Formats: sequence, C-alpha cells, structure tokens
Amino acid sequence: MTKHIFVTGGVVSSLGKGLTSASVGMLLERRGLRVRLQKFDPYINVDPGTMSPYQHGEVYVLDDGSETDLDLGHYERFTNSPLTRDSNFTTGQIYLSVINQERRGEFLGKTVQVIPHITNEIKSCVHKLAADDVDVVITEIGGTVGDIESLPFLEAIRQFSLDVGKENCLYIHLTLVPYLKAAGELKTKPTQHSVGQLREIGIQPDVLICRTERTISREDREKIALFCNLPLNAVIEEKDKDFSIYEVPLSLVENKLDEIVVEKLRLNAKPLKLDDWRELLNRMRNPREEISIAVVGKYAEHRDAYKSIYESLDHAGIANHAQVRIQRIQAEEVEREGPERLLSGYDGLLIPGGFGERGIEGKVESIRFARERGIPFFGICLGMQCAAIEFARNVIGLGGAHSTEFNKDTPHPVICLLDEQKSITDKGGTMRLGAQPTTLQADSKSREWYGNADISERHRHRYEFNNVYRQQFAAHGLSFAGTSPDGSLVEIIEMPAHPWYVAVQFHPEFKSKPTAAHPLFNGFIAAAVAKHQARGEQRAKPVPAPQEAPSLPR
Ligand code: GLN
Repeated sequence: MTKHIFVTGGVVSSLGKGLTSASVGMLLERRGLRVRLQKFDPYINVDPGTMSPYQHGEVYVLDDGSETDLDLGHYERFTNSPLTRDSNFTTGQIYLSVINQERRGEFLGKTVQVIPHITNEIKSCVHKLAADDVDVVITEIGGTVGDIESLPFLEAIRQFSLDVGKENCLYIHLTLVPYLKAAGELKTKPTQHSVGQLREIGIQPDVLICRTERTISREDREKIALFCNLPLNAVIEEKDKDFSIYEVPLSLVENKLDEIVVEKLRLNAKPLKLDDWRELLNRMRNPREEISIAVVGKYAEHRDAYKSIYESLDHAGIANHAQVRIQRIQAEEVEREGPERLLSGYDGLLIPGGFGERGIEGKVESIRFARERGIPFFGICLGMQCAAIEFARNVIGLGGAHSTEFNKDTPHPVICLLDEQKSITDKGGTMRLGAQPTTLQADSKSREWYGNADISERHRHRYEFNNVYRQQFAAHGLSFAGTSPDGSLVEIIEMPAHPWYVAVQFHPEFKSKPTAAHPLFNGFIAAAVAKHQARGEQRAKPVPAPQEAPSLPR
C-alpha cells in the first residue's frame, strides 16, 4: 500500500519547502523506495504559465507540456520521480474541475461546497499518484499555515489520514526558528504558534523541520518538542546552507530524518546510498578552475526567474571541475552602457528565454559582442531568436530584421509565428509546449556533445525561425544543426567557425541534473573553461605555464 507524506510550511514563506520535499524524496529513493512527488499551489491561476517571473519566478515545463511551479524543478533534479500533469495542482485547477463537473450535472440536486466537494477533489488529486508500484507519495502544500487560501488543502490532507489510516500518513511541518540579535538568542515561539495553528485545524505534525541560521541547542529543541507535542528526535534542525542547496539532503541525514520517516511509516527500506552525492559536493568544493559566465536577461535581478538555467550552469561546472561564477546582467543595462563595458572579461555569455520587447536590443548587442570576440555563446529559446536577429542584421546585412513578436512590420521577419499558433487567441497553456523530437546534423557540436542523432527536449514558445531565410543564413556561415525530424522547424543553430556558438529553440535547462549535467551546458562550460585557460596563457606569456586539459565527461 502506498504511504503518504504531507509537507506544510509555517511562520514565513520562502523557507524552502520545495527543496526539503525534494530532499526527503531523494533520501527515500536512496533507501530503495519508489517515490512520487506533487505540489498544491493555493493561487487561483490554473497554472503559472500566465504569470510574470516577478510574481512567480520561473515556469517549469514538463515533458507532457504542463507549465508548473519551479519547485518541480527541484523534484526532478533531486529524484527520479516521473512528473506529469498530476504533479502540480492549483486552487484554480481544482475549482475549474469541480465547476465543470457541476455543469455536467454530476452533483444534480446537491449544493456544491468547499467541504466536501473541493476537499474531495483535492484528495482525488493525491490518490492519482498512489499506485502498486509507488511506495511513498510526497505532497507539498504551497503557502503558509494561517493563509486563508491554504485552508481547503489543509482540511483535505487532515481528512486524508482518516480515509487511508493514520499509520499510512506522515505530516512534516517546516518552520523558522529565528535568531533575535537584540536578545542574542534563538526564538521558538513562532514555531509554537505555527504548530498551534495546524493543531487547531486538526493536524498534529509528526516531524518538525526547523530552519535556522544558528545551531539549535538541545534545550531549545526540548522546549519545541514539549510545546508542539512531539518526541525530541522528531524535532529536526535544518541550518542555512550558504555553500550549495545540494547540501540540504546531507544535513537532513545528519539529523536522521530518513530514519524517522522510515520508522514512522514502517517502510521496508534499504541502507542509505549517498556516495555519489558526497562525491558531487566534494567536486564542488575542490574546483580546478574558476570561470565567469554572464547571463543577460530581462529579469536578471530576480533570483528565481532563470532558476533552472543557473542550476544547469552549476551542474556543468561540476562535470568540468570548474566553479562557475554567474553574473546576472539586465539586458536593458547593456543597451545603456554598451556590451564592451559590461561584458568584457567573461568566459561565456548565455541569453535565456523570455517574452516581450523590453531588453531585446541589449540581448542582440550582447550576442554581437560574443560572436565577434569568439566568446562562447549559448542562446536558449528567445536567446536563439535574438541570435538569428543579430546574425541577419549584422552578418547578412538585412537591416531592420526582427521577430514579428516585437515588430509586425519588420522588412525581414527572420522569426515569425508558428503556423499552428496563427488561429490561437487564448493565452493559457496554448504555446508549443513540452517534449518534441529533434534530429541532429552529423558534423555539429550538438551531435558531438549529445552523442546521439535523435534527441527530445522541452519547448515553450509561439515563434520560430522563418524558413524563407534558411539559405541566406547558411550561405553566410550559420548551420542548422538540429531540426524537427521532418526538417520543417529549426531547433538548433550553430556557427561552426566560432569556438562555441550554439543556440536552441527548446529549454535544455529542464533536463539537467547535478549528477548528470546536460550535454549542451556541459559543452558550453567546457568551451568557457578553454577560453579562460587561453586567457590565462595570454597573460602568462612569455613564460608558458603547463596547462591541464579540462576533463570532459560525456
Ligand atoms: N517569446 C518567444 C516565443 O514565444 C520565446 C519564448 C521563450 O523564450 N520561452 O517564441
């Protein structure tokens, strides 16, 4: 029978419930258990696809084309749990489903209410993941205990343990134990209050994970245990990690979280295997090179807007024994200050995906700079479209070339709306989304790094490279390294004469893991390391120092 873990959060938001849920999933997998993860988000939007990155951070896309919360990125990076549409539900989606049922007459004669109709719908979404081949479903409840919006979800998970048996459910509550400078001590009261609120709703947490900047004394843990009605070993400290998020699972193991979960749910678990994870952190702590990558985007100031890209750069750094310093640069700032001033000295340039005109010219200028100076360049989605615009204008000489997303009347629409998009007016969930196959050209860098001619990558776009211009681009030295299998859609452009100029219409950042860096990020960082070493040699002349070749795991 499938067991259930529910993860809630209290005191403040942004405590890292997603990371903690992902870490719990990872630890259970590494004890030989089959795990599934899902998240409930209490907002009314049906999915985050229509929200600005300022509101929501990155929209994480799954193979099946669902646009989901960025916490699902943590789930995929930490575990092997397959994620689908059933892995992320919002209040909007729950209500939409219930209202559609009502319109079909499925509740004829009844008054439709939060309890039981909405709570039943929520419970059915949890049940969707339970199956014979699943040992544990981990369900994260977004928001903070005490929010009005979270109440139906908390009520549903309370009822859930009555339905499936208390012994089959485990409630983990994540809280904050803040350090008060003025008092010179850690404060347990917010945690007590937060657990108090949960208990009012009828949920007694089984495990408390306490986020803290400082070590929590045994005395304080005893106090928390007593006031929150828990055994002492179920009060787990999770100290802030300044080095890497990949330390979180290890610190939870130190505090025996996996043992408590296995014991409480009476799981048939194997001994924990973490050697590769420890090795990964070891590598991160002992880099052979330190390189710097500029990421020029519209939302560069926002830490979470390109979350998976930043993570993927780190993964490729690990694979290349390099520490990757990421500089987030506002595209508009490049427009004001010029690329020379802002981009000189970097070992690579990455232009991420995006929507809307703001900052486009800054991205185009940045790409020109990287192309002309032989700086490794990696373009992703809008980044590829900007590369095409730059190439058309500055190499082919097509003045005013643009994407019709930004200028409907451009004389040279090198990027235009996908045919399938022409009749679409609704905005939610209507882009070209999810996994699509791509065929790679034999002599391309992409083919070399993937080690395979047929790949599948996740998409999220409405515009595409305009095939009318293919010949002109090719005649000027650009190659179409990847296309849809029927050849109709351009998926990858490369410049063979450049050390690393690869731009893709899809989102490779959604398929990179710390233990298995994405091949294109891997190649990009290897090229950046080579650039960095060449710079070092230049500076070190005339006494050439012996250079160690970068190790390139493929
Ligand atoms: N706005 C562009 C399009 O819709 C690029 C999208 C993206 O970068 N995800 O095609």
